[in-house]
Amino acid sequence: MFEPEPAATSTKPRLRVVLCAPRGFCAGVVRAIDIVERALELYGPPVYVRHEIVHNRHVVEQLKAKGVVFIKELDEAPAGEHPVIFSAHGVARAVPEEARARNLFTIDATCPLVTKVHRVAQAHFRRGRRIILIGHAGHPEVIGTMGQLPPGAVTLVGSIEDVDRLPADDGRPILYVTQTTLSVDDTREIVAALKRRFPSIHAPAMDDICYATANRQEAVKTAARRVEAVIVVGADNSSNSQRLREVAEREGFAAQLVADESDVDWMALQKVGSVAVTAGASAPEALVKRVLAALDARYEVVLETLTTTSESMAFPLPRELREAV
Ligand code: SF4
Repeated sequence: MFEPEPAATSTKPRLRVVLCAPRGFCAGVVRAIDIVERALELYGPPVYVRHEIVHNRHVVEQLKAKGVVFIKELDEAPAGEHPVIFSAHGVARAVPEEARARNLFTIDATCPLVTKVHRVAQAHFRRGRRIILIGHAGHPEVIGTMGQLPPGAVTLVGSIEDVDRLPADDGRPILYVTQTTLSVDDTREIVAALKRRFPSIHAPAMDDICYATANRQEAVKTAARRVEAVIVVGADNSSNSQRLREVAEREGFAAQLVADESDVDWMALQKVGSVAVTAGASAPEALVKRVLAALDARYEVVLETLTTTSESMAFPLPRELREAV
């Protein structure tokens, strides 16, 4: 699995760098950014995007430079021929309803794997089930998933303590769904607690934690066992990047989450001989390259790639963009 590359002769300290694969952009993020860029080509700037299209400042700044206007709420966008795009995290049903009422032209960049969770929650709610969502309060994806159903229909839990506090079984069948970007290990523990309290609880037919989240966590966990420190490239507000940092720390090593090379804590790397590098699903590969270049400037780097699985997932663009093209 390891593919060592020869190191050049140098007076710099030696550092073994294990590059995790897979890392960085997932299919949902690639699709969301493609949607915005295609909309810019087709309709011209400005294109409005409600909230950060994906959680990464560099991506947002690059799109702003191309004519994207990021808005918090729909009333900041005018009706007309310039689209308003919903971010990859998904939105509550009230958002497209408000857009229709205001006659806005909208394009939905919600990741299809998030939409799948929405549909499962809706279908089981229609069948009379109580819905429990495992996720982080306040995250846009959680707001969007809870907003698929009437207020009060979804109960959010973020920890085993939350499960202990849930009201007793009221006789209705219960289904749990999860945010797509959670820690696989933490979620397994919360699901076990739910099953202890509600033995007949229904699980979704397929895991809601997405392939990209699970694969990146598996890669960093494997790498973290072979190094002395971990660098995760990603944004502070990116759930899957934060989970990568936590997964690495759970293996017992210091892990730093950095937006780019300027964030790296070089003091923390002073006494280590090996470091793993990975990136969250919304972090561009260009930022990973910048971090590697910064490592290369300070160390005699021996670079290895650790590949735990390969990915081939790709999602089509929304129909309105395919037809317009
Ligand atoms: S992290 Fe997973 S759910 Fe989120 S956009 Fe990427 S593929 Fe979709």
